[in-house]
Amino acid sequence: MPLDQFSIIESTLREGEQFAAANFTTEQKIRIADASDEFGVEYIELTSPLASPKSYEDACLIANRGLKTKILTHIRCHKEDAKRALDTGVHGIDTVIGTSSILRKFSHGKDIGQIIDLAYDVLTYIRSQRPEIELRFSTEDSFRSNEADLFRVYLAVDNLGVVNRVGIADTVGVATPMQVYRLVSTLRRMVQCDIEFHGHNDSGCAIANSYSALDGGATHIDTSILGIGERNGITPLGGFIARMYTVNRELVRSKYKLPLLRNLDTMIAEMTGVDIPFNNYITGVVAFTHKAGIHAKAILNNPETYEALDPHDFGMTRYISIAHKLTGWNAIKDRAEQLGLDLSEPQIKEITGYVKALADDKRLMLDDVDDILRRFAMGESLEHVLGGT
Ligand SMILES: [Zn+2]
Repeated sequence: MPLDQFSIIESTLREGEQFAAANFTTEQKIRIADASDEFGVEYIELTSPLASPKSYEDACLIANRGLKTKILTHIRCHKEDAKRALDTGVHGIDTVIGTSSILRKFSHGKDIGQIIDLAYDVLTYIRSQRPEIELRFSTEDSFRSNEADLFRVYLAVDNLGVVNRVGIADTVGVATPMQVYRLVSTLRRMVQCDIEFHGHNDSGCAIANSYSALDGGATHIDTSILGIGERNGITPLGGFIARMYTVNRELVRSKYKLPLLRNLDTMIAEMTGVDIPFNNYITGVVAFTHKAGIHAKAILNNPETYEALDPHDFGMTRYISIAHKLTGWNAIKDRAEQLGLDLSEPQIKEITGYVKALADDKRLMLDDVDDILRRFAMGESLEHVLGGT
């Protein structure tokens, strides 16, 4: 039952470093690693130690920091890369090689037979050096690869008996949820090891594809905070959490410290100099704002009527927007009660009618509605109130 057993591979410190606006210092990397560990992700993936001298030093530092989460690093399927990665003391190594014809031709120039030979050399070498290390082999650009080629490679790798999991990567964000489900579920029947999915968001399917991967039998999903990564990024941690929460709320609540999600999103937004999108999953400014009168009434009676996500689980608060033409008298009544004003139901209904009419002509703020309520409660007539608003 993979939907009950999934693990998150948090790749802000690898994929996220490929985001155009990211340039994390050592101190920032440590903050990100510590905060992700506290949130409860099962893995943190780091940039290849061959990327730069600092990348190597930082990988050593984070790998030996004693965090609960397992630390992985991501390397090309090369023996020299593997040696360097082993030197850092990481708990796992993620190897990758392109299998699509376009990458084989324009990136590394190897055919499928050579890829299998290389995988054999590198993977058996790593296993011989560190029997306890967690080892992954992934193809790159899996969804533009020939399917027969892919399965040939995965079967050969699985048969080695040295990898913990194989990875499928939608490197350019072209896969649909149905394609992901088909590929993963076929692979699930062919290999014994775990299956990881890495999905880019170029065409907006990263979260849905990650979910479909789990549905098809995948066990590990790659995410990054705010979804940052190459181009427009990958499956965002918060969005993936929201997706899984609606499937199994208790499991997600027990696995992760959900109120820390806002700190993670805010931290990465600050470090990279971007805003959290207004419509972001869970932490966007309107994620828990209700507006229509009919919604507001039901929410006031029972929040589950229009909320699949409970804001309190994430340390967020619900907001009912009332200063607009779609408002309803239940919401206005609730606001009057919050303000401690004693108004009868007919009075509230009268005020609601005036607020709607007023909002047809001008943009209202909550303060305007509060002012109307207060002045009406003090006995001013609505004509007078409106004249002065
Ligand atoms: Zn990627």
